[in-house]
Amino acid sequence: PADNAPFFSVEGLAKHFGGIRAVEELSFTLSRGEIVGLIGPNGSGKTTTINMVTGALKPTAGAIVVEGTDMARSAAHLYARRGVARTFQVPRLFRRMTVLENLMVPALSEAAARHATSEARAREVLAFLRLDHLADDYARSLSGGQQKLLELGRALMLKPRLLLLDEPFAGVHPRLLDQIAEHIRSLNRDGYTIVLVDHNLEAVQSVVTRVVVMARGRKIADGPAADVLRDPEVVRAYTGT
Ligand code: ADP
Repeated sequence: PADNAPFFSVEGLAKHFGGIRAVEELSFTLSRGEIVGLIGPNGSGKTTTINMVTGALKPTAGAIVVEGTDMARSAAHLYARRGVARTFQVPRLFRRMTVLENLMVPALSEAAARHATSEARAREVLAFLRLDHLADDYARSLSGGQQKLLELGRALMLKPRLLLLDEPFAGVHPRLLDQIAEHIRSLNRDGYTIVLVDHNLEAVQSVVTRVVVMARGRKIADGPAADVLRDPEVVRAYTGT
């Protein structure tokens, strides 16, 4: 890969479901260590984008370039091997396993197994999330907010190079929003490159400096959050007027 290649980019990305153009001509670039919000009204194509960028959905067209290599036609497990990890909006935990076991299950991919089964890494992740006192509790006994943290922890097991967070604030008790936001800020300070998808614009703004806005499958704005959220086209997309 060329030295000047961006850390990560999507170029002309598209996904069509029959006649539905869920994502169309989407391009953006991420620098290493950046934290960016991917926002937009319901149905604008955010989830489809995350699914493509993590290898779960094959694009209809376009490139997904990770450190100079186009991954768009690669098998899903190769994304994990490249260090792309995600969380799900609704935590995908093993409810009858303990918190520690949830981190150690090599569920992400076979390539992940070596790291994911490491108890030392699991203990490190639990300490970071301040869940260490719950290590031996069953996942099902955790509060909603703690389950979101554990979901984040599972993605962190691999020390991902790119971390995609799908609605980390959704369904979280307002009292815990600050705590989740602070964990995300702290990961970014530690050097993680993060893309955050969420409806909660206030929470997103408390964490990111830059936002990419989608509407009807396309990118309609990209820049500093404070400027972009005042952009009349963005306001229109959100209010539907
Ligand atoms: P968002 O995450 O921003 O709410 P989505 O990516 O879920 O948006 O959806 C974008 C558009 O694509 C919507 O119109 C949605 O109905 C459509 N869509 C998403 N997934 C599928 C699918 N598997 N089959 C058909 N249409 C889909």
